[in-house]
Amino acid sequence: MTDFAYAVDGDGVATITWDVAGKSMNVMSMAGFGELEGLIDQALADMAVKGVILTSGKKDFAGGMDLNVIARMKEGGVEALFEGVMGIHALLRKIERAGMDPKTLKGGKPIVAAMPGTGVGIGFEIPLACHRILVADNPKAKIGLPEIQVGIFPGAGGTTRLIRKLGAMVAAPFLLEGKLSDPKAAKANGLIDEVVAPEALLARAKEWVLAATDADLVKPWDAKGYKMPGGTPYHPAGYMTFVGANAMVLGKTMGVYPAARAMMQAVYEGALVPFDTALKIEARHFVSVLMNPSSTAMIRSLFINKEALEKGANRPAAPDQTVRKLGVIGAGMMGAGIAYVSALAGIEVVLIDATQESADRGRAHSEGLLDKGIQRRAMTVEKKAEVLGRINATTDYAALSDVDLIVEAVFEDPKVKAEVTAKVEAVVGAECIFASNTSTLPITGLASSSKRPDQFIGIHFFSPVDRMALVEIIKGAQTGDRAVAKALDFVRQIRKTPIVVNDARYFYANRCILPYTNEGIRMVSEGVSPVLVENAAKMVGMPVGPLQLTDEISIDLGIKIAKATKAALGNDYPDDDVDAVVFALADQGRMGRKAKAGFYAYDAAGRREGLWEGLGQMWPVAAQQPDLVTVQHRLLMSQVLEAVRAFEEGVLTDIREGDVGAILGWGFAPWSGGPFAWLDIIGAARAVEICDGLEAAHGVRYAAPALLRDLAAKGDGFYDRFGGGRKSAA
Ligand code: NAD
Repeated sequence: MTDFAYAVDGDGVATITWDVAGKSMNVMSMAGFGELEGLIDQALADMAVKGVILTSGKKDFAGGMDLNVIARMKEGGVEALFEGVMGIHALLRKIERAGMDPKTLKGGKPIVAAMPGTGVGIGFEIPLACHRILVADNPKAKIGLPEIQVGIFPGAGGTTRLIRKLGAMVAAPFLLEGKLSDPKAAKANGLIDEVVAPEALLARAKEWVLAATDADLVKPWDAKGYKMPGGTPYHPAGYMTFVGANAMVLGKTMGVYPAARAMMQAVYEGALVPFDTALKIEARHFVSVLMNPSSTAMIRSLFINKEALEKGANRPAAPDQTVRKLGVIGAGMMGAGIAYVSALAGIEVVLIDATQESADRGRAHSEGLLDKGIQRRAMTVEKKAEVLGRINATTDYAALSDVDLIVEAVFEDPKVKAEVTAKVEAVVGAECIFASNTSTLPITGLASSSKRPDQFIGIHFFSPVDRMALVEIIKGAQTGDRAVAKALDFVRQIRKTPIVVNDARYFYANRCILPYTNEGIRMVSEGVSPVLVENAAKMVGMPVGPLQLTDEISIDLGIKIAKATKAALGNDYPDDDVDAVVFALADQGRMGRKAKAGFYAYDAAGRREGLWEGLGQMWPVAAQQPDLVTVQHRLLMSQVLEAVRAFEEGVLTDIREGDVGAILGWGFAPWSGGPFAWLDIIGAARAVEICDGLEAAHGVRYAAPALLRDLAAKGDGFYDRFGGGRKSAA
C-alpha cells in the first residue's frame, strides 16, 4: 500500500490517512481508488470499528485527480471510461451510505473528512460524499472544484452533490467558474461543515464520529421528501435560476466550451431524477466531455505541458541559478510590477530609476497592490511590511554591487538601453546576468552594447505583470546556457510559466498578436461590419475582439510599431491598408482607451460604451457581408499561421511552448488548446483547404506554410510529429 494508511484506536475509531509516497501533495490515481475502497470495506466489515476519520498525512488534503491518469483512461475507449467513472461513483456512494440499511437508513458508520488544508477536485469530491467535512483553520487552504478551468467538470459526483447541497444558484460560481474558497469562506457558503483549530482537527473529528446519530449520516438527498434548494427546473423559482444560469454560461463561453454546456445539461437533467440516476447522467456527460478533442487539448496545454514547462522541461543543464538579489532598472509600469512579483516571492530587490521620485513611485505600486490584498484578506499587515522591506527604491547604481540578476525596463530606446547596460556593468559582479524586458528590440542587437553578451538575455513580461502568467525568455545569438537557466529559475521563483524562444522581430507572442489586430482593422477598411468583427472573435473564444484590443494597447503604440516595422521591411511592408485606418483615427485624437476614444466610445470615467458611431461614416459598412465562419477563419488563421511560421523558422522550438504561450500570453482561444492544437483538431488537410480559399480571396499572407502542406500530405498532425518535447521544425 503506497497511498493510504489505516489504523484503529482503542475507542474503535478507524483513521484512514491519505499520504501518497514520494509526493508533496496527494493526487488520486486508479490504484489509489483501489486502496481507498479496500480500506473502506475493511472498516465497514469490522464489527469493532464504530466510525472512520479520513484525513491526510500531508499539510494539505489533496490536489485532485492526476490528470495524466485521465489522459490515459481515455485510451481504453469510451465504454471502459464510462465503467471507470461509474466505479468511482460506486465507491463514493459506498462511503455515503456507509453500510446503512437502504430502507430504514439506519445502522451506517459515520465517516468524517478531516482536512488539514487544501482539498480541490477529487480532493473535495470525496469529502462531499462523507457525512461531515471539517477543515483546519488555515487561511492558505483552498477548497473547491476547479475542473472547469482545464476544460472538464467535476465528474466524481461533485456536480450532482454540490447542486443538491446548495441549489443551482449558490453552487453556480463554484461549478461554472471553478471558484476556490478559504476555509472560512467555504463554511460561510455551505461547502463545508466546520472550521477547526489545526491542532484540534483529529480530536474534533473523533468526537463527532463517536457522537453521530443515524440521522446525522443521512444526506438530504437520501432523506424522504428532499427538495432541491432553490427548486428544480420544474419549480417556478428553479426555472428562473436555470434560465438565468444558462444565459450566463452562454454569455461567458459563447458556447465554445463543451464542458460548461455539458455540466449544465448534467445539472438540469440530473435535477429531475433520483440521486443515483443523476450520477449516471453526470457520468454520461462527463465521458462525452473527456472524449471531446477540446478537453484533450485543454488538459494537455493548460495542465500537463504548462506544468512540464514550469518544472524546467527546456532548462539547459546548469547548476542551480536561484536569484538571491535582483536589480530592476526603470521603475515605470513594467519595472514596478516586476519588483512587486519578485519581492512577493521573497527576493531582495533594488529598484532604480533616474529620479528618487520615480523610484519611490515604483515602490508605491507594490504598496497599492499589497493594500488591495489586505482588503481581500489575502495579505496581512505584517506580510506587507516584509514585502515592502525587500524593495530598496533608489537612484544609486552602487546598490547593485551584489545583485545576481538585472531586469532592465527603461524606455524602449536602444540608446537609453545601451547607456543603462554600460552603467550597470560598471558596478555589478562578473557573474551577474543581464536581462532586458524589451518588447520589440532584438536581443542580439541590445547585447552588442554588453561586455558579456553570453550573459545577456531577454525576459519579456506581459502587462499587468502581477496578473499575467506568461514570461517569454528570449535567447540572443550569443546568449549562453547559464543565462537561460538563470531566467528559468527566476520565473520559477516568481511562480509564472516560461517559454524560451529565439531572437526575431517581436519574438513569439507579439509577433502572433499583431496580425490578429491588423486583420480586424483591415476588415473595417474593407467594409466588414465592426460589430461582426468583434463578435466573430468572441464567438470563437478570443477574450477580446481585435478592435477592442487595439484600443487597449493604444493606437499611438500601434503607430510606433507600424513605423518601425515599415522601416525594417521597406517595400515588403504588407500593412498600408491597416495603417490608413489607424492613422485616420489618430488624426482625430482617437488614441484608444487611455484617450477615452478609439474604435470604441467611452464615457467620462473611461468605461467602454460601444463601438464608435463615427466608424460607419469613415468606413461605410458594405451591403454584402461575409459569413461568420469566414471572419472567424481570417481572425484565427492570421495568428495561427504566424505561430507555424515562427516554428518553421526556429524562433519557436517546441510546439508545447507555442500552445501554452498563446493561451497564457494573449488569451488565444483556450478551448482549442492553442494554435497548434487547433490545427490538429481540424486536421492539416482541412487547414490547408481553408488557407487556399483565404489566399485566393485575400492574398498571400494566408498561403499555407510548407510544413502544414507536408503534414496534410502525410496525414500527420503537429503533436504526432513534434509533441512531447523540444523538436524543432527548423
Ligand atoms: P514606462 O515609461 O512606464 O517606464 C520606464 C521607466 O524607466 C520610467 O520610470 C523612466 O523614468 C525610467 N527610465 C528611463 N530612462 C532611465 C534611465 N536611464 N535610468 C533609469 N531609469 C530610466 O515604460 P514601461 O511600459 O514600463 O516599459 C518599460 C520597458 O518594458 C520597455 O522596454 C517596454 O518596451 C517594455 N515592455 C512594456 C510592456 C507594456 O505593456 N508597457 C510590455 C512588455 C514590455
